[in-house]
Amino acid sequence: MRHFPIFVDLDGHRVVVSGAGACAEAKLRLILKTHAEVQVFGEGPTGQILRWHEARRIDLHERAIEPGDAVGAVLLYGANDDRELDLRAAGIGRAAGAMVNLVDRLEESDFITPAIVDRDPVTVAIGTEGAAPVLARKIKAETEERLASSVGVLARVARGFRERVEALPAGRVRRAFWKRYYDRVGPAAHARGGGEAVAASLEGLLQDALGAGREPGRVHFVGAGPGDPDLMTHRARRLLDEADVVAHDRLVPLEILELARREARIVDVGKVGYGGGWEQGEINDLLVDHAVRGDVVVRLKSGDPGIFGRLDEETAALDEAGIAWDVVPGVTAAAAAAAAIGASLTCRKRNSELRIVTGADLDGFAEHDWRELASPGAVAGVYMGVRAAHFISGRLLMHGADGRRPVTIVENASRPDQRVITSTIAGLAEDLRRARITGPAMLLLGLSPRHLASAAMTRLASGDG
Ligand code: SAH
Repeated sequence: MRHFPIFVDLDGHRVVVSGAGACAEAKLRLILKTHAEVQVFGEGPTGQILRWHEARRIDLHERAIEPGDAVGAVLLYGANDDRELDLRAAGIGRAAGAMVNLVDRLEESDFITPAIVDRDPVTVAIGTEGAAPVLARKIKAETEERLASSVGVLARVARGFRERVEALPAGRVRRAFWKRYYDRVGPAAHARGGGEAVAASLEGLLQDALGAGREPGRVHFVGAGPGDPDLMTHRARRLLDEADVVAHDRLVPLEILELARREARIVDVGKVGYGGGWEQGEINDLLVDHAVRGDVVVRLKSGDPGIFGRLDEETAALDEAGIAWDVVPGVTAAAAAAAAIGASLTCRKRNSELRIVTGADLDGFAEHDWRELASPGAVAGVYMGVRAAHFISGRLLMHGADGRRPVTIVENASRPDQRVITSTIAGLAEDLRRARITGPAMLLLGLSPRHLASAAMTRLASGDG
């Protein structure tokens, strides 16, 4: 590289042009892109050069350049289209300390002027050291095409914001901010409404970045499983570790809540029994309020969020508020209770269908297809069934159930205080009363603990039962 590209500040500096013909006019077109103080010396000026003079964009002297005329000039152009005149001008310029360019005379010049793609303040300069002017023009044409005319506007608007953007942390955050602006937000705004829209979009982007300091909030509905922290998913643990707010049900035990980030705000939104505690609407509002503020919210539900967890009501509220959410499944109580007794929830030749039912709904004890549930081999996991036990066994017997069919109650499944109570449809209410259940309990209708079942089978085989 013989000619080193630099950008020279010409604001308010003098540039002298020797010559006033077509060749000088071409150079002046380029120079007039700057705010230089331009003086032109030459006879027979073109009409355009006269007009520039009249408009005071240049200072025209209709005579040849003389020694002393270039005093204080930064650059001098020899554009006389005449070698003798140009060389004379070059001598005058150098004597005054100016850098000299003679148009089309590379060897006799101190600097050369590149081909320029102008998207002020973005400028692309293309030089070939005079080796390939046609190639330079081709590259210029291609670059003109590639650089949307909005590029200059984007950069100009950005210049006015640079200082304020310094409020963002230097490095990755600030780079990401500008990248979003140049890649998407800026060009889209320009297409919509030009420079004004670009400025507004940048202001909005900056307010967002300063206000929240992170992406807009989101709500994760996370299944906490039946209580044993070991039965949580990896994703559930990771989200607890990221959460700003954890809104949890009454059934989520302390050991799991302790997995949340130390700074996280933990809110118990458990609905205690019927009435009292949090209303569903209040829970919805809590989720929306935090997410709008940019918080990562974990809505922690026991078991699986999609089973008797009123998930739909909460997701509907978020949809209405335009807040993003997702669901992380968990081990549901029926699965944990079945695991506790080593029983399979489905079994070839016994039940190809598993029912998940609730003992209580908003209206009190829940009604079901009792005839189906009463049929031999039917298996159901009954949630919230303890209080409804008397009602449930009454309904089943009324619909023809065999009163001796097994019901196994698993209290606190997967927890250290887990209890298994074996019962029957006929004896259910009485057995539960005697067991004094205080923790959450699953009724497994139609299932008995696996070892008991095999013991019974052994007795049958030996003919004594
Ligand atoms: N979404 C939860 C169920 C919520 S309803 C899930 O998928 O498991 C609450 C009911 O779940 C309780 O009344 C009880 O019947 C059952 N339950 C929850 N945790 C339990 C546990 N550890 N042991 C037994 N039953 C449990």
